[in-house]
Amino acid sequence: MLITSGMQKLRTSQGCNMADLKDKKLVKGRRIVFEDGVVSEGCIVIREGKIEAVHRGENAPINEEEFQEVIDAGNQVVMPGIVDSHVHVNEPGRTAWEGYETATKAAAMGGITTIVDMPLNSIPPTTTLDAFKIKMEHAQPQCYVDVAFWGGVVPGNEMELRPMINAGIAGFKCFLIHSGVDEFPHVTTEDLHAAMKQLQGTDSVLLFHAEVETSDIPDSLGSPEEYSSFLASRPPSMEYEAIKLVCNMCKTYRVPCHIVHLSAAAALPLIQEARGAGAPLTVETCHHYLNLEAATVPGKATQYKCCPPIRDARNQEILWQALGNGDIDMVVSDHSPCTPELKLLEKGDFLAAWGGIASVQFGLSLFWTGGSKRGFTLQDMVRLMCENTSKLAGLGDRKGKIRAGCDADLVIWDPEAMWKVAVPSIQHKNKITPYLDMALKGKVLKTILRGQVVYSDTEGIAQQPMGQLLLKTGGK
Ligand SMILES: [Zn+2]
Repeated sequence: MLITSGMQKLRTSQGCNMADLKDKKLVKGRRIVFEDGVVSEGCIVIREGKIEAVHRGENAPINEEEFQEVIDAGNQVVMPGIVDSHVHVNEPGRTAWEGYETATKAAAMGGITTIVDMPLNSIPPTTTLDAFKIKMEHAQPQCYVDVAFWGGVVPGNEMELRPMINAGIAGFKCFLIHSGVDEFPHVTTEDLHAAMKQLQGTDSVLLFHAEVETSDIPDSLGSPEEYSSFLASRPPSMEYEAIKLVCNMCKTYRVPCHIVHLSAAAALPLIQEARGAGAPLTVETCHHYLNLEAATVPGKATQYKCCPPIRDARNQEILWQALGNGDIDMVVSDHSPCTPELKLLEKGDFLAAWGGIASVQFGLSLFWTGGSKRGFTLQDMVRLMCENTSKLAGLGDRKGKIRAGCDADLVIWDPEAMWKVAVPSIQHKNKITPYLDMALKGKVLKTILRGQVVYSDTEGIAQQPMGQLLLKTGGK
């Protein structure tokens, strides 16, 4: 990749106004993923952090000397920066698990230009307007990519929802089962009715951790050191029954609803039926359900534990098919780290360990590793990891696409390069991940946030945090 400086060229040219060069940059390449899905040669004009113009073809009306900087991506892919709408940062309160600096550095290195932070695991959880302000105060000075925020729906906080919407929260999340932390209790159907009434008439979305307690869990689960024991403790029926409830709520109130981290393919017909009936329902799945399978999880390897669990290979193929046919709308990380002590790595107790997989940095490569061999294209990747995730978080008018007027958030990457996950390159705080030593296809070369390079494979991560906090506007 070549970077040339227009400033140097200017020394020999005359009559140019230096002020015109300010913050004017050009990204050009032969494999740009355009908004309509076409991958072709072209260039992107960036001015003051925004995309000013997009040109397709080799004969763009561009004089490169007019630019402060020209980034030539050559034959590498240029696509919108990834928007990961499911990341647990845990700061303040559980910053030892993960904090804004480390999470956003990991995101920058992974080609992600926006994360949306989950409302739980931090203390306080983001369930009141005051707590939302505390979150923002902590995040503000230390973000290397842009950050938006989900709020939480918990029993009795329905009167906090509209104030949080007015303050710019992206939407809300609730649990239908114990969340794993006591300060973020799950809701009952009654709580949901109260919350739905507040959300009706706003354009806010409610995200559901869709698992409920069911009666079909075996009395004896087997050794806690075996992954199969944990898998038996969270059967697909827990997701199926929860999704039935979500579909009914969505159909009744017509409030946009979203199912986070779908694992059980058995629930897909419910989702199809609800959407067929006009329910404003969206669904995500995660890289770990698409790239890991239950049968190959080693004994005591609690770094693989997450809820709902990773299921069998057949289930995984159905999830990929659902991504292809549009039944699942997006792919996210659900980056949810904790300390090594809570992962119980030495004891290897799957039943007692914290459930959560750390992977925010690897999403681009994970999707491409599994997706490219199943026929998924660059266009699919943009749809599933940029466009639909930014739309979910109310950021569709400024993120997730290469379009004039949008933020100049881009990732330049090599779709042929193979690389191996190794501890020294892991940016998230606790270097625990099931992907350690895994060979992945697709390597990020440059991440550009509002026109600024925040990561490059040669220079590393930017010295200063340049991320902004993103507040949703237009809440009714
Ligand atoms: Zn999560």
